[in-house]
Amino acid sequence: MKKLLLPLLAAVLCSSQASAWGFFGHRIINQVAVYELPGAMQPFYYRHLNEIVRQSTAPDERRNADPTEGPKHFIDMDHYSEDNPFGKLPREYDKAVEKYSADTLKKYGTVPWVVMEMKDNLVQAFRDKDTLAIIKFSAELGHYVGDAFVPLHTTINYDGQLTDQKGLHSLWESQLPERFILDYKLLDDKPTAQYIKDPLNSIWTVIQQSYGFLGETFDRATKIEKTMPPTVRFTYSHRYGKTQRRYSDAFADAYEKAVGGMVNYRLKGAPTLVSSLWFTAWQEAGKPDLNALMHPTKPSKDEKEKLTTELAAWKKNTLAQDQLLLAQQKTKKAETPDEIKAAKEMAPTQAPEPEAEPAPAPAPAGETAAPAATPGAEPSAEPSKVKVKTKGKDGSEKRKEKKQEAAPSGW
Ligand SMILES: [Zn+2]
Repeated sequence: MKKLLLPLLAAVLCSSQASAWGFFGHRIINQVAVYELPGAMQPFYYRHLNEIVRQSTAPDERRNADPTEGPKHFIDMDHYSEDNPFGKLPREYDKAVEKYSADTLKKYGTVPWVVMEMKDNLVQAFRDKDTLAIIKFSAELGHYVGDAFVPLHTTINYDGQLTDQKGLHSLWESQLPERFILDYKLLDDKPTAQYIKDPLNSIWTVIQQSYGFLGETFDRATKIEKTMPPTVRFTYSHRYGKTQRRYSDAFADAYEKAVGGMVNYRLKGAPTLVSSLWFTAWQEAGKPDLNALMHPTKPSKDEKEKLTTELAAWKKNTLAQDQLLLAQQKTKKAETPDEIKAAKEMAPTQAPEPEAEPAPAPAPAGETAAPAATPGAEPSAEPSKVKVKTKGKDGSEKRKEKKQEAAPSGW
């Protein structure tokens, strides 16, 4: 029966992949970051909001074309040590190279240092008063910071592939936010850009927090697996002669109950660091007059009204309900070429379920699923021990599996 339904699912997937889904999180992060900026920067950034949001996914879109791009999006901390990787890996790039070699760093990811590089590029762009470069590096800085907020970007077991949870990556960072955005709050607790004295320290803190969430990320899925059989847990699609598996909506619903607080917490935390790094770069460049780069230099009445509406919705947490997120606007002409290219690179993401929809998930047995992270609660900055080394069913160690495929796109 499943076989008969595969072509149908494939057709649905093909048609849905030309949409903006999959890059949802990055777009939201960059958009919300603009709302957090001070008055001296906001009119310029708001004028270029579409581009800042559109280019938020450029680094993922060039991954297939540029072999050096991939490692910039993650850092596999558990490669360095499972117990105390943050004590082992030096925070400064030069010292880390000295200890582990540039090749090793490249292999296991360089996201913290890429964030620093983008920040420096942005400082230079501000100094040059180069509008295009300011937009580009602001957008891309937002991307890499966003990646650092995703727990699965800090582990070798980045897609759950070593724990028989393959597909967890896109479930966590795409399927959940896309499916539950109406329930998520996008207003951070301290939603204003702040000057950051030590950006390297800030990004490492984020990575450490992300790493701290890994235990929950895997364990909550494992818990659901115990009550949900594989036939309900997964759906399958057939593309280019390959069968692909992804988590079902039933599993997504159960997983959202278990970790949704964590996903929301990371999603709303990222824009604050993004806007703070934009603000910091602008300060480091000597606070150039951004209004002078605008033509016309003043925001129009229209722009002002739109921004006021959006800021009010953001503060009331109704941006998604009011359809004000650019990520919700699936088809935009200017985006078409990138979107098609990106879609080809993407692993199948969310698609409406055809009739093959699996039976609803059985209610988690006797458990009131508490979110793994309560929004607003500061996660411990202490590195927590994360068990990603797992034994296979035959007792063999599976952890050292090599990364052979590109990480799923998304955050
Ligand atoms: Zn990325």
